[in-house]
Order: sequence, then C-alpha cells, then structure tokens
Amino acid sequence: MSFRFCSLSSGSSGNSQYIETGGMKILVDAGLSGKKIQNLLTSVDVDPSEIDCILVTHEHGDHVKGAGILSRRFNIPIYANEKTWEAMEEELGKLKDENIKIFNTNSDFEIGDLGILPFNIYHDAAEPVGYNFYNKNKKISVITDTGCIDDQIKKHIKNSNLLMIESNHDENMLRMGSYPWFLKKRVSGELGHLSNEDAGNIVSDALSGKNEKILLGHLSRENNFPELAHQTVSNILNEKGIDVCRDISLDLTFKEKTTKIYNI
Ligand SMILES: [Zn+2]
Ligand SMILES: [Zn+2]
Repeated sequence: MSFRFCSLSSGSSGNSQYIETGGMKILVDAGLSGKKIQNLLTSVDVDPSEIDCILVTHEHGDHVKGAGILSRRFNIPIYANEKTWEAMEEELGKLKDENIKIFNTNSDFEIGDLGILPFNIYHDAAEPVGYNFYNKNKKISVITDTGCIDDQIKKHIKNSNLLMIESNHDENMLRMGSYPWFLKKRVSGELGHLSNEDAGNIVSDALSGKNEKILLGHLSRENNFPELAHQTVSNILNEKGIDVCRDISLDLTFKEKTTKIYNI
C-alpha cells in the first residue's frame, strides 16, 4: 500500500483532506476551525498531534481557517507558494519562522517519502494550486476551486490512482437559483468553480478505466444536490463507455463529515 486518503470535509463551509504514506501524515488545506479538524481526524483514528504538515491550495477562508491554530497548537509546518503566503499571512496569525515553508508552483519537491507537485489552476485567488502526490508507484491528484481546466492540468491529472475533483454546481440550478447576478457570474466564470458537467468531461478524459477512484468535491449547498452531481458525472462517463460500477469507483465527499479511508 502506498497511500491512505480520506476527505475530512469538502465544500464552501470548509475543506480539508488527509493523506498518509508509510512515513508522512499530511493535510491538504485546513479550512475549518482547529477544533473541528481535530475531531474529524480523531473520528478516523488519526492523532492530530501526528500531522507532519499542512499544504495550502489557496488563501480563501474555507481552505485556511484552522491552519494557523493547528500550526501553533501542534507545531505543524505550513507549505504554500509566496503569493499565497502574502495573501493569507494576516488570517493565519503569528507563526514560528520554522513553520513557514515556501514552495515554487510547478516545481516538484519531497517531504519525507511523499513526492509533491503543486501546479497552477484558475481561481480568483493570489496563486491557487492543485496538487499531485506521489509515493512508490502510485499517484493522487487533488483539484478543487478552479473555473476551468487547460491542457497542462489535464496532463497533471492523467494516470491518477485517486482523483479528487471539484463538482461544484449544476449549471441549470445556478442559472435559475437565488444567487445575485454578480455571484452567478463569479461561480460560473473562468476563475470560479467547475460544474458537474465540467467534472464529468474532465474525469472521462483523464481516466483509463483501470479501477481509478474518483471523488467529487466542493459541492455547492445552494446550487447542487449530491445525487445530481453523482448522476451527471456517471451519465457522462457512461456515454464515453466507462462503466461507473465496473471500471472505476465514483464517490461523493461531504461537508464536515469524513469519507471512508481509501487504501491506494
Ligand atoms: Zn473553496
Ligand atoms: Zn476558493
């Protein structure tokens, strides 16, 4: 086994994903209160004090809310690119110098036995990133909060054994829903969020149908239903000849509720 993966929480009320290798225990984002993240970790039998580091995708509150608190409480280093650090420094509060770790987007690096590649995505933040994680011969990709996908991103997410991808909204629900016009524009824009249809098309492109695990994330409470996201993505995959039950697994993530632990 190379990885254990668990989504602790996903959605606009707070995001945090847990990844474990033989030697490392990390969080991707920590966008809930420190207490809530501790409780979610404990619920899947992970001791919060054993977290080795937090990797940040971008500075929005639903991704960094608890990062500063956890860093101070358990002496955890936080990794982000320079522009994200500038944008989130104030919200995170005072940290030990040794816990401020800066990486360059599009340059791979290692922490312990975990290989990491942060890559550019499209979102209304300073320098948002998606991540590839490597251990032994396995690969996990996490990509949420992006308004669109380019060829580079498609390349990055190919051949993932587990792919967590945003399936934020149903295009019709967003269009007909109660959001003010400017917010509809923001969500559906190129620096906003991926729709269910987008997620379906991207996943079908990235998949080889060899038992990959797909997790749909960052579902909107206002403009989506979990069943609808799952159905829309399944339908698109079926149309492209991928049988969701036989060839891959397609699961949802939840708000302030963990998924099962995926062993990769
Ligand atoms: Zn978000
Ligand atoms: Zn965001």
